[in-house]
This record gives sequence, structure tokens and C-alpha cells, in this order.
Amino acid sequence: MILRLNEIKSEGEDFEWTETETSLTDNLKDVLGSNSFVATAHIMPSGSAYDVHGAIRSQCDLTCGRCLKSYKMPLDLKFHEILLLSETKNKTMIRGTPEDFEDVGALHIKSLNFDIGEMYREFIILEQPPYPVCSESCQGLCPKCGQDLNEKKCDCLGAGLAKDTVFSVLKNVKLN
Ligand SMILES: [Zn+2]
Ligand SMILES: [Zn+2]
Repeated sequence: MILRLNEIKSEGEDFEWTETETSLTDNLKDVLGSNSFVATAHIMPSGSAYDVHGAIRSQCDLTCGRCLKSYKMPLDLKFHEILLLSETKNKTMIRGTPEDFEDVGALHIKSLNFDIGEMYREFIILEQPPYPVCSESCQGLCPKCGQDLNEKKCDCLGAGLAKDTVFSVLKNVKLN
């Protein structure tokens, strides 16, 4: 999804894309799969920098690291980014320095043909947890027999748990 930043009106422009926008879908299908999405952006030129407020709503298909089942993580993210054209001839037109934008996040771009789909993609990847779990209370699989402990307990882990409990009681005694 290439945006021509030099064609954006000086008062700023609003954009909205959904899954019917195939060029954005191409950017996002590896992170969103077949989930529908609505992506919006408000882009405002400021000298040779561009102020972008973006949002995207969708779902990600993730695999739980404990029970190995796939689940859907709701995605509702907003971001604010400053695009700075790196090799601009009119450097003095940039109001402020990159440091001024640090709390917002400045992204150096090389061309005014900006791939906004790639930006959405990166923010979605950042939003995904490094160790996905379907729920904080997920019991996972038994390491011995592979039983899904959310569905049914098995005997092998019962024995292991009892030992652990005795061990932690002993540890507590020592500490006290
Ligand atoms: Zn799980
Ligand atoms: Zn088991």
C-alpha cells in the first residue's frame, strides 16, 4: 500500500482501509491471516516531515505456548509516528529536530512514496506477545503423557505435583 506523501493536502488527510483494499491485505496477510481489519490514518504534512496518527482493529491467530491450541488475540492498536524524509534538500523546513520527536517516535524515510502497509505490519508484530498464552489460567499439556490439562487431569502429573508441594513446604521451613 504505497501512499504518495507529496500529494497529501497541507491541512492533512484521513484514510481508511479495510480488507477489500487488496494492496494493504498483501502487506498484512502474514500477520492477520484471513481476519478482517479496519485500518485508519490521519496524515498531516509539517515541512518535510509527516505526522501520522494511525489505528488498526483486527484479530491475530496465535498458538498458545502451553496447550498448543490456536486462539484469536483481539487487536486494537493506535500509534503516532513522525515520518522524516532523510535526504531532503530543504532541511531547514523541518520544524524541530529528530530529538524533539523522540517521545513520539521518528521514522526516517527515503522516499515520498511511503509503504504504509509495512508500517501497520511492524506495529502488529510489536503488539504480538513473545510467549502467547490462550489464557493466563491455561494449564497446558502434561509433559509426560501430553494430556490437555484444561480438559482433564492425568495421574502422572498428580504424582509430580505432590512431590513439588512437599519440596516447597521444606523450602519454606528452611527459610523461616
Ligand atoms: Zn492454552
Ligand atoms: Zn500426564
